Amino acid sequence: MSSTHGPIQSHDYQMLIDGHWVESHSGRRYERHSPAHDVLVGTYPEADAKDVDIAVAVARRVFDESDWPHTSGAERAALLGKVSVLIHENAEELALIETLESGKPLNQARDEMGWTCAIWDYAATLARHLRGDAYNNLGPDMLGITVREPIGVVGLITPWNFPLLIISQKLPFALAAGCTCVVKPSELTPGTTLRLGELLLQAGLAPGVVNIVTGFGDPVGQRLCDHHDVDMISFTGSTRVGKQVVAASQGNLKKVTLELGGKNPQVLFPDADLDAALDAVVFGVYFNMGECCNSGSRLLIHQDMADKFVPRIIEHAKRVKVGDPLDPATKVGALISDAHLKKVMGYIESGRKSAARFRLGGNRLITDKGRFVEPTIIDHVTADMPLACEEVFGPVLSVIRFKDESEAAGIVNSTMYGLSAAVWTRDLDRALTMARRIHAGTVWINTFMSGPQELPFGGYRQSGLGRELGRFAAEEYTELKTIQLHMGPRTSWWAGLPR
Ligand code: NAD
Repeated sequence: MSSTHGPIQSHDYQMLIDGHWVESHSGRRYERHSPAHDVLVGTYPEADAKDVDIAVAVARRVFDESDWPHTSGAERAALLGKVSVLIHENAEELALIETLESGKPLNQARDEMGWTCAIWDYAATLARHLRGDAYNNLGPDMLGITVREPIGVVGLITPWNFPLLIISQKLPFALAAGCTCVVKPSELTPGTTLRLGELLLQAGLAPGVVNIVTGFGDPVGQRLCDHHDVDMISFTGSTRVGKQVVAASQGNLKKVTLELGGKNPQVLFPDADLDAALDAVVFGVYFNMGECCNSGSRLLIHQDMADKFVPRIIEHAKRVKVGDPLDPATKVGALISDAHLKKVMGYIESGRKSAARFRLGGNRLITDKGRFVEPTIIDHVTADMPLACEEVFGPVLSVIRFKDESEAAGIVNSTMYGLSAAVWTRDLDRALTMARRIHAGTVWINTFMSGPQELPFGGYRQSGLGRELGRFAAEEYTELKTIQLHMGPRTSWWAGLPR
């Protein structure tokens, strides 16, 4: 098969353990076909629990015995900066790998490379600022010091929707803190994470600090979460698997941070800048085919404006081009897999059986290859329907009408999720009141899905545990140690006791 990019080529990858590119111990491999083109794009080692044990043993030894955890912040910052430059230099190749493995539009994947570099640069600044504190107010004979130490061996588990971006929300911060890592990318999209491994070595990272193991969630991810020599798991993925990660962590009470699903509302009031809102609603739901934790999959619209405004959204959505992700005009590429396509179509079918009204799309596109779904808008969805409270993870907008702020806040907070939300209004009181009533880790006002690295990101409720990005991002990968210094003669335990 060829495209505007030339013939699509497959690549045979190996895993990274202790600085070496290796096969799985069983020798088994598996394949990935492009979900848009149905052609082979990669083969990878299929690891199992034994491979994880080998990788964890390496990470453990390097953490316990090598100089890596004791390098200066300045050295780590320099390394992270070099990785950013290397990602930038290889951006075109990395973007193409992402597109072929995931089905996302190439133009969008290119943008993601820029965002990824910015995260590595930001993590470099944090590496130099990790520090503890001093307590000089404990009396004349006592001085207290707290120090930040790397938490140890960290398992990083990532999903398929933003493979390089999401590992980059974890790995540079773990490295900034001085941890060693075992990375498990999604079995569907490991290519760029493995290429990142090459760039890390090229940048001068010592062997064994980062190890990358490819394979399926169970056994590879499961074994990593069960492992007693792993001190922390940072997981991004579904809420269902997030709960399994927490259960597995009990064995050694390892720290767990979770970035999970969302059912994110955009709440639209009549006094908003409607042109801006229109663009954000369409972008919010169709970006990355709706396969986005932050997807604005619910539109809560004031009942007084709905009948006039929904047709405008429909007209705008009709201009969204669906198709070959290598075509520069494409905005919506292919869904990731047959299983996921089935899930998305299942939600669409649930809408057909309900009182909701289909206003746009609702079908799989008939193509000779790939798996594409039309941009879909379903109106008159009510808060009790699966389309209103479950994560569809596809290009499907559920429109829900509300009468006032209280009802809107109630609907927003009626799902088990709490990742992000947007409020569209020019009324400052209303904007801030809504922002404070919404149970979500991020609330955007008059914008959507914008994420500077300085701002923390994460979920309330079943959308997650902990935060990524922001100034505390590297601290997540540390332990806080208290050191107390006593000066002068110490009062004896025996003092004052009868002899
Ligand atoms: P998933 O939960 O199926 O898989 C995520 C990762 O976990 C994969 O690497 C998978 O192999 C691994 N895994 C599977 N079973 C495991 C187990 N038993 N133990 C340990 N690891 C296991 O998720 P997905 O389908 O790859 O990604 C989509 C989900 O990710 C959506 O729910 C989406 O909302 C969520 N997500 C969240 C964020 C965020 O920042 N909050 C970002 C992106 C995606």
